[in-house]
Parts: sequence; C-alpha cells; structure tokens
Amino acid sequence: MRNFEHAAVWEADRDHFIHPYADFANFKAEGSQIITEANGVHILDSTGRKYLDGIAGLWCVNVGHGREEIANAVSSQIMKMQYYNPFGHSTNVPAAILARELASLTPGTLNHVFYSTGGSTANDAAIRIVHYYFNQLGKPNKKKIISRIDGYHGATYVAANLTGIHATKIGFDAIGRDLIHHVSAADTYRGGDGRSDEEYCDFLVDEFERRILQLGPDNVAAFIAEPIMGAGGVLVAPQGYHSRMHQICKKYDMLYIADEVVTAFGRLGEWFSSEALFGHVPDILILAKGITSGYIPLGATILSDAVHDVISQPQCVDGVFTMGFTYSGHPVACAAALETIDIMKRENMLDHVRNVGPHLQAYAKKLLRHEIVGDVRGSHLMLGIDLVSNRQNKEGFPASSHAADVVFARCKENGVIIRPIGNRIVVSPPLILSKTDCETIVDVLDD
Ligand code: PLP
Repeated sequence: MRNFEHAAVWEADRDHFIHPYADFANFKAEGSQIITEANGVHILDSTGRKYLDGIAGLWCVNVGHGREEIANAVSSQIMKMQYYNPFGHSTNVPAAILARELASLTPGTLNHVFYSTGGSTANDAAIRIVHYYFNQLGKPNKKKIISRIDGYHGATYVAANLTGIHATKIGFDAIGRDLIHHVSAADTYRGGDGRSDEEYCDFLVDEFERRILQLGPDNVAAFIAEPIMGAGGVLVAPQGYHSRMHQICKKYDMLYIADEVVTAFGRLGEWFSSEALFGHVPDILILAKGITSGYIPLGATILSDAVHDVISQPQCVDGVFTMGFTYSGHPVACAAALETIDIMKRENMLDHVRNVGPHLQAYAKKLLRHEIVGDVRGSHLMLGIDLVSNRQNKEGFPASSHAADVVFARCKENGVIIRPIGNRIVVSPPLILSKTDCETIVDVLDD
C-alpha cells in the first residue's frame, strides 16, 4: 500500500469518494475524519487521536479490531487459492466447511446456505428465493412481502424498499409499489401508548393479520423482521411478539424471514437470537456483518429444509436454479468467517457478552436522570437512547437542532464514538469490551 500525505487523502476523498449516506452539504465543508489504525476496542485517526469504538465499526467488528488470527487465515487462503467460481459443480473448502458450520450452529432445520456479499444482497436473495419457492409450489400470485416501519434491511433496490425508515426514502423511488407493504414497528417506548405490553402485542399482531387479509392471503408471501430493530433505534418488541407473528405467517402459508444481520454472532449473547431469545425458528435467516466480524464482506441467506426441499426440485424450464453472484461463497471471506467463529468459541465470547451486556444496560439507566433522555433500552450489547424535548409527550427535538449529532460530537471530543440517528443514539460496541469500557461509554454520554 502506498503512503499518502493526509492533505492528499482529504482532497481525493472530497473530490472522488461518494460516501454511503453522504451528507453532501456539510461534507465538503468539514472534510472527513481519516481512520488510520484500529486495535481491540479502539480506533485511531490520522491526527493520532484514539477513540473507544462504541459502534464496532458499524455493528460488525464483534471480535474486535486488529486480529492477527483473521489476517493469517485470510492471507493463507489467498496464497493457497484466492478465487475460483462456485457456479454449478465447482466448490471451495472454506465455503463448504463454513456452510456445514452454520448449519450446525443455527437452530431447527436451517441447514442450507446461499452466500452473498453483505446484508442487503442477502435480503435481496431471500426475496428472490421466496418468489421462486412459491412459483415452484404453483402459487405464482403469492409475491407480496410485509416489512415494518423503522426496520432496516439495506440499500440495494429491494432491500431499500424493505427498509421502513422514512429518512432513507427521501428523493429515491419505490420499486414495484405494490410488492412491499409496511406494518407498524414494534416499539414499546412510543408505540405502546399507555397499553400494557400484552395489549400492545395484541394490537400489533391484529394489525398484521388485518393487513394480510386486506392484501389477500393468496397474494402475501413473507414477513421480514429484525429480532430487535437496529438502525431504527434499537426498538425492542413486546414479549411474545415474534413467535406470535410467526404463528400468523404459518396460518396464512407465509414464510418468516429473520434479518439477524446485527443480532447474530454474539451481540445478544447468543449465536442467533430468534430461537434463543424470541422463541421461534424462522424459515429463512439472514446473516452478514458479525459473520466475518467486518474483516471481509460476506452475507448469508440460510434456508430451512422445507424451503430448500421446494427450491431444489427440478423445475419445468431446465432444472437450474439460475441465481448467484460471482462472489457467492468467496473462499477468502469464508475463511475469515471460519476464523471469526473459532475465535468466538476459543474465547467463550457468548459468556463474556452475557456478563458485560447486562452491566452496560443497567449502568446506562443512569442517563435517565437527564430531562432530555426519554428512554434507555436494549439488550446485551445493543443499546438505544431516545432524546426528547418533552418527556411527557415524548416529542423529539426538531430535525434542525441535530440533537443526537451534538451528542455525537461531544462524545467524540471525549474519546468515545457513538452513533446518532435522528433523535436516537445507538451503542453497539465490539463484544470484547470490558465492564470498565461499558462505564466509559456511558460516563462520556452522561457528561
Ligand atoms: N439488515 C440489517 C438489520 C442491517 O442493520 C443492515 C445494515 O446495517 C443490513 C441489513 C444491510 O447490510 P449491508 O450494509 O451489509 O448491505
């Protein structure tokens, strides 16, 4: 890698790099912070300043930054065989072994892995597979997908339309306006409206069933949901919600897709949270981010035996499942994933999260002493904070005040990175952090 003067990097960045979720207006004026090094739970910028990474890169660097073991696994796979296509009948060792490993770690009969390059492509693949599945079953009208307001599922065209966050839609178009429909977020802070959790859950399940009946059960194919909404602001559903939604899916012959891009690989103290924490086994499970701890892009769409049985039947055209990416099952990415899983096992990382996670949640409750904090919630290493201008009516601050951005800037000055999203703040640190690190994040927020 060549070395560049920082000024040259700034200039190249400003003039040529279209950043994801770019704020064009402010971007050119401020210039980017250049992150140059990362180790453990810390990142360093080009000025030499060190920060506690309270968001694990972007909900993904679960085993921490700078892992030599993963670098070694990746480099030895590159030296041995860096790429050959997986189409048809060729395969590679890491892709096959990782698929078996995922099948053994996932609950129920989630035994069949379709690889992609990240969370968006894994979700896109899921929707194509769902459509193919119902075509195979001779139900070509069953195509509509129900998603949720405030859910986040990615930025490819279909995934962006599955996403229910209003701010991500502004200026962009909808694809197939009648394909994707949204129901309410399960948001016990704002949505509950004084109802008990049980009543609120009844309301959400009832709304879902009414929507299916309105669209026509013969037209509705699947429901997609994150176990806990991440980018929506760490929204936690009332107890029993996911398994009841799944029951409704079964009643109307629909598939339940669990988007565990954030909630898998230890963030909630489990390999996967759907069964372990929310009491149901989805028909399709979506993975990305933590699967390689963010070291190399990889996504996975995992199918139950029942779904796989249907899509693997020969079909009338010429019997080929004509779906796949050049990089489906990329050997280097799969090697990184295998090493990530090994690290998590060797270091008992799930136990560690079960230990530090509740501490973070409990310690963060002290933020409620501030009038501008309406709610502090989450589970294990997913923490969400709602900023309000009025606690009684839970009203947020006007967008123009950039309230969460102000908090973000102050935290950064004090050496901690958190993530501002509208009036919400989220924290999702590397899983290896200590209880003291948890306290540092909260103390800096408190300050
Ligand atoms: N699904 C969820 C729940 C996510 O949080 C994200 C990204 O944040 C995605 C899907 C999209 O993943 P990617 O950005 O890797 O395409």
